[in-house]
Amino acid sequence: MKNDAMAGEKFEFKAEMKQLLHLIIHSLYTHPEVFLRELISNSSDALNKLRFRRLTDSNILSPEEELKITLYLDKENHGFAIEDSGIGMSKEDLISQIGTIASSGTLNFLKNLSDKQEKLDANLIGQFGVGFYSVFMVTDEVTIETRSAEPDSLAWKWVSSGSDSFEILPSDRTNRGTKISFKLKDEYKDFAEDWKIESILNKYSNFVDFPIYIGDKKINTVTAIWQKRKDDISEEELFDFYKYISNDYQKPLGHLVLNIEGNVNFKSIIFVPDTPINNLFNDTREKTLQLYSNRVFIQDDAKELLPEYLRFVKGVVDTEDLPLNVSREVTQSSPAMLKIKNVIVGKILSLFEEWADKDIEKYMKFYKNFGSLFKTGLNSDFSNKSRLMELLRFESSAKPKGEYTSLNGYISRMNDKQNEIYYISGNHIDIIEKNPNLEYFKKNEIEVLYLTDPIDIFTVPYLREYDGKPLKSIDKSDINIDSKLEEKTDVSEDSQNKVIERFKSVLKDKVEDVVPSSRLIDSPATLVVGNQGLDPQLEKMMQMMDKEYTASKRILEINMSHKLIKNLIEKISGTPDDEIIDNAINQLFEGALLIEGYMKNPIDFVKRMNEFMTKATEK
Ligand code: ADP
Repeated sequence: MKNDAMAGEKFEFKAEMKQLLHLIIHSLYTHPEVFLRELISNSSDALNKLRFRRLTDSNILSPEEELKITLYLDKENHGFAIEDSGIGMSKEDLISQIGTIASSGTLNFLKNLSDKQEKLDANLIGQFGVGFYSVFMVTDEVTIETRSAEPDSLAWKWVSSGSDSFEILPSDRTNRGTKISFKLKDEYKDFAEDWKIESILNKYSNFVDFPIYIGDKKINTVTAIWQKRKDDISEEELFDFYKYISNDYQKPLGHLVLNIEGNVNFKSIIFVPDTPINNLFNDTREKTLQLYSNRVFIQDDAKELLPEYLRFVKGVVDTEDLPLNVSREVTQSSPAMLKIKNVIVGKILSLFEEWADKDIEKYMKFYKNFGSLFKTGLNSDFSNKSRLMELLRFESSAKPKGEYTSLNGYISRMNDKQNEIYYISGNHIDIIEKNPNLEYFKKNEIEVLYLTDPIDIFTVPYLREYDGKPLKSIDKSDINIDSKLEEKTDVSEDSQNKVIERFKSVLKDKVEDVVPSSRLIDSPATLVVGNQGLDPQLEKMMQMMDKEYTASKRILEINMSHKLIKNLIEKISGTPDDEIIDNAINQLFEGALLIEGYMKNPIDFVKRMNEFMTKATEK
């Protein structure tokens, strides 16, 4: 049926799409050649979809037709076209898939850049789910002709200049798949030259799993890189492959090339990124491991192959062990998937163990970038708990700032009397180091781990013990203070009781208890948590998440040897009505709260302090 005479139907782009197009055309031009990668990648996706469907369904248009991508270059007229024999698009697809922005965050992000007059690196465009529109960097008008793989589908033509609207009209295309054609802007006429296109494709066309032709000439070899022998893959090839699958443009921190045979069979290449890849909009393009079955692409993000805590790696897995008519449901329930997952997890952990052992700098780079997610494995992957524990690293009182220790390192430095592992949590090492609860440990050279990553608080307390030694927070009241190292005081028991009674009567139910401290050296008082209480950092988090949450009451420990406490003892027996006593007690308590970051109302505290200073400065 010849339909060309029929009038087309006109559609306005949505307002946000118009803005986006405007931005692409006017600001995104740092790497115009990116359009080629985006179009090839869309064609490759369309071919993958077709191949996947063909596995189980032969009722499609021209089932025997070769799966390929063809580029047509017209040097004289600056013409460019790309055609694939993939899944194609229906009229509805053209309206809904081409012409709407996948993620609402996209536009805001781009607008933000253009407000700041920054150029967006066009390399990033693929991450936004608007790759197709990058063609408007190099042309003023685009025509799509497409026919879907449904056996009785109609063919459609889509035309747009990328400004306000697009038009859809019937097409006389007979082949399955999609052809996108346009005339290049003058300044980009090079893209109609064979040498130019070949040099761009050179980088990644061998990772595209379908033949690519320029006219009649096939330009890629299509050998899946993971099918090669490990020794035959060059570093450069690996890096190019990584860029191709991850949209990252930095060299990965490390990689694994696996060829597993035996109980389960698969080949795999896995990369650990150098830095977190900006997952700007948390959109569906987030990819981890791509799954292939006998070289046929099955899915992009095979969740069954990776536990949550390793979801920062990228790569491919190709297995012979899935049934021939694979479907997503089959992969989910297949026992092969679980076996593959176990092998992969083991190999990734071995890689980290190797780094931790031989290349500490690399390991710490990984740990700082992905440690927070990685550590959640301690709460979920119990079969690997002991390996994960060995991989933990902490700052510590025994190490210079910026250096880290393992639990094993800690144990090796313990003296034979110590039978617990101590830690303290806080947002920053500078604040932690001044915490009064550390005084006893510093004086007696007992090492304390500094938990500075907020995630630590959700994991470390639940580890309970390492190498038979319990892990204990020094913010708690029940630490084992060695009686020989205990701080002794010359204050009589009677005086101690009196001052404690006075503290209790002033502070009332603001504290759970007031007790003499055996761990303070330089500070007069400190707050600790009762044995049943949660770690103070954890409580702070709970409060951030839940405004109603009330923190447990604290125990106030006071240092009987401190001059200030001794002065108070004298005052209590000499001039018990002197108002400075109660003021000082309140001030001590609130000062301790302040150190813990728990002071809610600083006004009284400051007022009292000003009164003290006024007195102290009187002649
Ligand atoms: P993305 O590829 O990130 O989804 P694009 O703007 O590049 O974003 O493409 C939008 C959608 O248009 C694709 O998801 C796909 O559904 C459809 N599409 C694009 N190119 C083709 C093609 N060659 N064949 C079939 N469908 C296509």
